[in-house]
Amino acid sequence: MSYEIDYVKKIKCPCGKGTIEYKKMSNDWNQTKESIFILCNDCKDIYEVVTESVCNKPKHGFNKYYCKNKLSNQKTEIEI
Ligand SMILES: [Zn+2]
Repeated sequence: MSYEIDYVKKIKCPCGKGTIEYKKMSNDWNQTKESIFILCNDCKDIYEVVTESVCNKPKHGFNKYYCKNKLSNQKTEIEI
């Protein structure tokens, strides 16, 4: 079934010249999914987006996103 986009948020990429685009989507059954892409030609070669699931309580999990530098493995949290 198809998902509809609930909202899109654009965040500055690490170099500041482009953006990182975050999308939250849901379908008719209230299932949600999220996606995040680096929309910057410089940063997408240097960084990759990694997702970490944080689960405090059952059904209250959420995701944290980081830009990970492919060379240094240093992670910077993306504030969404
Ligand atoms: Zn950039």
